Amino acid sequence: MNLSQWLGIDIRSADYAYARDESTGYISAKRIPDQWVRTTCGYCSVGCGVELGVKDGRAVAARPDESHPVNRGKLCPKGLSEHHTIGADNRARHPLLRRKGRLERVGWDEALTTMVERFRNVQAKYGPNSLGVLSTGQLVTEEFYALGKLVQVGFGTNNYDGNTTLCMASAVSGYKLSFGSDGPPGAYEDLEKADVILLIGANIADNHPILCQYLDANRQRTLIVADPRVSKTAMMADLHLPLKPRSDLALLNGMAHILIRHGLINREYIDQHTSGFDELAKFLESYPPERVATLTGLSEELLYKVTLLYARAKAAFIGWTMGVNHSTLGTETVNAICNLALLTGQIGRAGASPFSITGQCNAMGTREAGCTSGLPGYRRFDDPAERAEIAALWGVDESRLPKARGMAYPDIIEGAVSRKIRALWIIATNPLVSFPNQDVLRHALSNLDFLVVQDGYHPTPTTELADLVLPAAIWGEKEGTYTNSERRVSKVNRAVAPPAEARPDFDIFLAMAEKLGCRDLLYPGWRSPEDAFNEWRRLSRGRLCDYSGITYELLDRAGAVPWPFPEGRTDCSPSRLYGNGQFRTNDGRAKLICADWQPFPEQPNRAYPLVLNTGRTVEHWHTRTKTREVPILERLSPNAWLEMNPRDAKGLGLRSHDRVDVVSRRGRVRAVELRLTEIVAPGQVFMPFHYVEANVNEVTQSAFDPVSREPNYKQCAVRVERHKKENDRT
Ligand code: SF4
Repeated sequence: MNLSQWLGIDIRSADYAYARDESTGYISAKRIPDQWVRTTCGYCSVGCGVELGVKDGRAVAARPDESHPVNRGKLCPKGLSEHHTIGADNRARHPLLRRKGRLERVGWDEALTTMVERFRNVQAKYGPNSLGVLSTGQLVTEEFYALGKLVQVGFGTNNYDGNTTLCMASAVSGYKLSFGSDGPPGAYEDLEKADVILLIGANIADNHPILCQYLDANRQRTLIVADPRVSKTAMMADLHLPLKPRSDLALLNGMAHILIRHGLINREYIDQHTSGFDELAKFLESYPPERVATLTGLSEELLYKVTLLYARAKAAFIGWTMGVNHSTLGTETVNAICNLALLTGQIGRAGASPFSITGQCNAMGTREAGCTSGLPGYRRFDDPAERAEIAALWGVDESRLPKARGMAYPDIIEGAVSRKIRALWIIATNPLVSFPNQDVLRHALSNLDFLVVQDGYHPTPTTELADLVLPAAIWGEKEGTYTNSERRVSKVNRAVAPPAEARPDFDIFLAMAEKLGCRDLLYPGWRSPEDAFNEWRRLSRGRLCDYSGITYELLDRAGAVPWPFPEGRTDCSPSRLYGNGQFRTNDGRAKLICADWQPFPEQPNRAYPLVLNTGRTVEHWHTRTKTREVPILERLSPNAWLEMNPRDAKGLGLRSHDRVDVVSRRGRVRAVELRLTEIVAPGQVFMPFHYVEANVNEVTQSAFDPVSREPNYKQCAVRVERHKKENDRT
């Protein structure tokens, strides 16, 4: 407060003035923009169209883009308050270099020179693959494409992965094994057109809320939700299947067993378009309803009911998210979902799809154009013809392209523990909240010779440990494209300038290539993201994810355009893959895969009697770096909580709002507020994973899907104790 305010001369009337806005009516005059800039939401993979209101060069408001085909004039609470993420206090503003233990401000030139020198020194001493890179699902596709080239060809390491491995790698691996390629086959519109919808491990009401309007628009549908919790989505269901934790694969196999046993399969589709039926039929003999009822905790009657609903549907849709993916059996569970669709021919038509609803705003972009688990355009590292094609398109010697995938995210962390990885570059992600078993992660990061964190925010728990912090522009401050879960590409536009010295990641990658001396090789003639986009269009031509007919101009006009969109196509409406029954496998047939259920790795016992499930809440985004800075979201959900069934609480002498510790073999989360609720069944507890102050990943385990390398976040054995002050010191 200044002197005039203290004396009451200045009553800050400008701050409290109201005025009339044509779209929202009377609101604070400060929030009436001079202009609205069309863009795409930067949180989740639904891909809603947003208009960002700008006044005097600052983002002051957000509203739905009424013309955008995905969200149809609606936004969820995060989208409606997204402008607050830009002006947050904790934005990274200047490059910072650690000297004598303290982060000190340096110029960009010194920052990039230091980074390149330190990385090169480490690589010269310990080999090129001693450098690891961890990226994100938050960049625009043009940046993923540029980064892939920079890491694989410029720095020459293939130990490169994204935080996307923490959320949807199992969907990718499952699709590749079943259909021969990544790429969700369906569209959101299927939620309106299906007569039976099975959501399995997918709490869309919290995590993809705008998709609920597609369900609402479908009056004929039967909605089945399989989830151990009575989630908000389960509350919307016609039929909730409260299956035991991680018994989803048994349920799916049991349904497939009933389909085959009772002749409810589409034999013509199976014969013409799949392989492996005989092996699968034999394998599924070991999943009779009586066994599946025991494994899942669901009655045989319910199993039959669900299977008959699915089998008799004209169009049946199965959607899933992290409840399936966050498992050591994630890939196999995805295969079992695909099996059901293939056995019944419920794929490639309106309403019929096995559909992975992905996580971050542009997780799809890194899957398509990034260079982590494969070469861009869903090409394989180990396919000589595809490697040769990329080498020719990039004008580089083929020997500079990796022949195999490098370490996946968890293996990079393990590599740092064992000192195979000596330097690490982390981009737009915050593992010190999101990675399981934080103790191992802290050990890994403390082992590094040099840690660079490039982020739009500082401090975060991860930037605080960095040797070098590179300040990046964020959503609203840069240009490019995102692809949403239904393969629709939307434009992301710059509305305001980044703060202080922060720069778009795209510019940082180009400047780094300059320092490495390979800018002209990697980015010939590139000046803007559109140059990267145009090269990516050429590279994607003829691939499943064909962008060749998509231009920035078309995106501006149409709002969202689905791939494949080859040159010459004009129809921008949602599309389905595999409508012709031709899959991307060697023989063109989808594979029916035998996927055996196993109990989850850490079973409860006397010392740790409860099964802990983790997940999200609608108000927050992943590690809360952004949403804790949004006042309305933070006020709605300021603290972590633990959900426990009242029967378990009674046994422990606990009551609602008690402060408790959650303890596993790996660590302890302290002083969490207890919520007693029937949302969780006896023997299970649930905690959201957004909160660094009470980080559930202190207790989650280092167990990963052997194929996708995705962590098993969803089940670990814990006990719950009343919080005691003396535990704060342990
Ligand atoms: S549903 Fe997802 S994309 Fe849409 S406004 Fe909410 S966070 Fe943004």
